[in-house]
Amino acid sequence: MGTPAQPVDWTGMSEATWREVAPGVHVRRHDELKLNCGLVVGEERSLVIDTRSFHAHGRELLEAVREITGTELVVVNTHAHYDHCFGNAAFRDSQIYAHPGAAEGLRRTGEHQRQQVVDHLRATDREHLAEQVEETEIVLPFYLVEQDTELDLGGRTVELQYAGRGHTDHDLAVGVPDAGVVFVGDLVEEGADPAMEDAFPMEWAPTLRSLLERPSGVLADSWVPGHGHVVDRTFVETQAEQLATMAERFTEVLGTGIAGVDSLANAGRGLGLTEDTLRLAAVRALELRH
Ligand SMILES: [Zn+2]
Repeated sequence: MGTPAQPVDWTGMSEATWREVAPGVHVRRHDELKLNCGLVVGEERSLVIDTRSFHAHGRELLEAVREITGTELVVVNTHAHYDHCFGNAAFRDSQIYAHPGAAEGLRRTGEHQRQQVVDHLRATDREHLAEQVEETEIVLPFYLVEQDTELDLGGRTVELQYAGRGHTDHDLAVGVPDAGVVFVGDLVEEGADPAMEDAFPMEWAPTLRSLLERPSGVLADSWVPGHGHVVDRTFVETQAEQLATMAERFTEVLGTGIAGVDSLANAGRGLGLTEDTLRLAAVRALELRH
């Protein structure tokens, strides 16, 4: 998801289902926002990937994790958008990993994100949920990794991967090499366009390709996006291609020296991206030009 300015399609304490995509590698799909959280079970520790949108959501996730494993838990936030990290308060006994940019982004924008979500929930008559978000303590990740870092879970190793800027300036992916699975957060979107509000549209494709080329990525055929269905390698390659073509066309228009939002968005047409996505990408490309 992008920033909370986007519609929040919560319908209450929603349904969720686990799916084991490889031995000991679980994806929990939530109705709200079609959000995916991950669980990689080791012999000594298990890794939880993303924590949902507020404290009670996080607690419910923790209870569901506890039905699968009693091991020590470590947590990673793929990035600092509220739906991936506002549930951290439920995991405060765990080491919470993220990129330093995520900690900084959450410190800087956390209260603003909260206000946007609360306003939206109130405007759509979901006072109970608005209160839950208001009461949530924003807990910052405090184990910060700027480059690829292995975590030994006992009997298996996962890799926290930073491949460059894309959906944000601080997206972490999680490779599970023994299982052929990569959790990619919102660097990949299924069922919706890549979310551009905080994105680096000209750098996104190389970041995805870098993940595809890593040893754990080359072998992976299950890619878990932050939202939507689990996809295969071809889907990720196709999304990288789409973003690369958009960036190439933007570069041509930017080279003319008279680029604006309209001309950039026009140049991006025909790639399967919506007008809204193209305009947001154009705004970001112009902002980041210098
Ligand atoms: Zn996001």
